[in-house]
Amino acid sequence: MAISALIDEFKKVSASPKTMLAKYKAEGKKAIGCLPYYVPEELVYAAGMVPMGVWGCNGKQEIRSKEYCATFYCTIAQQSLEMLLDGTLDGLDGIITPVLCDTLRPMSQNFKVAMKDKMPVIFLAHPQVRQNAAGKQFTYDAYNEVKGHLEEICGHEITNDAIKDAIKVYNKSRAARREFCKLAGEHPDLIPASARAAVLRAAYFMLKDEYTAKLEELNKELAAAPAGKFDGHKVVVSGIIYNMPGILKALDDNKLAVAADDCAYESRSFAVDAPEDLDNGLQALAVQFARQKNDVLLYDPTYLENTRSEHVCSLVKESGAEGVIVFMMQFCDPEEMEYPDLKKALDAHHIPHIKVGVDQMTRDFGQAATALEAFAESL
Ligand code: SF4
Repeated sequence: MAISALIDEFKKVSASPKTMLAKYKAEGKKAIGCLPYYVPEELVYAAGMVPMGVWGCNGKQEIRSKEYCATFYCTIAQQSLEMLLDGTLDGLDGIITPVLCDTLRPMSQNFKVAMKDKMPVIFLAHPQVRQNAAGKQFTYDAYNEVKGHLEEICGHEITNDAIKDAIKVYNKSRAARREFCKLAGEHPDLIPASARAAVLRAAYFMLKDEYTAKLEELNKELAAAPAGKFDGHKVVVSGIIYNMPGILKALDDNKLAVAADDCAYESRSFAVDAPEDLDNGLQALAVQFARQKNDVLLYDPTYLENTRSEHVCSLVKESGAEGVIVFMMQFCDPEEMEYPDLKKALDAHHIPHIKVGVDQMTRDFGQAATALEAFAESL
């Protein structure tokens, strides 16, 4: 299939999680909503259910979730609850709510109250000190508890063999997404920012084996495509999420192609594989979480070396990007607190960058579009 046809298919999936959910439900499958961050989706897949990403939605301003949320909660949390209240995700059979930041911690209880008559809400507390034996055991126990709740929903045991098979499926999918990011960076003429974002977003609404097969087809076509002429600028994007129609349009309009990313919704979520050589699948997932790094949401024992900021700078060098766009989610404390260190590192490496505020309730992206236009001109 041609590259453009494959991208159109990913765009269709990415634009309508509701349709994908209805499709899987019509096939008789159960589905579990997975909220940010680091849900061990492998357990849902191993249970024979469909993990559906719930990372908010764009543009809705009259929202009922405000009845449950403090006004200073970020919009990703508010809009995620809204999708559960307004019927968009009515087919879900449960949700998993991790609590890795100060918004998600209280929010998990808001989800519980709001969903009490609608669906089970599975609480997931990851440890921050996750690398040592106690941290891995904590993660193991937390995942084991999630597994128990999922077994109640699917009605059967989730076997160790099923978890190990799911890990293989997910590792393959993560590898394909990393490969796609590399190929997209090499072909900015073929993969504008909006197409890259849609391809990666579609992963949240498809079973991973189906998604990976399609993505590998696209990767094959991209690998065979000759390098084309590109008269725009390659950039690295950083932040939680930037999949807002107005932002993607402004990136495309100003020929800003994404050469690599440091985004929670994108590369941070598929950077680390689970080991396949451990006998215990749950233990492998705990080791995977222990190995997660370069994320503002996770405690970094080497923080004095500013490892995460240096990682963003190295993405720029390795991908041949000309600068960095930091998309700052409004009211996101972890990202805001890390920004001064990131700025310091970018300045020290003489990497041009810009910070653009985003939130999921914005409809008018005029200000952000002007800032991106000026940034493109400065490059
Ligand atoms: S955007 Fe920031 S504040 Fe909101 S859920 Fe994510 S990390 Fe927490």
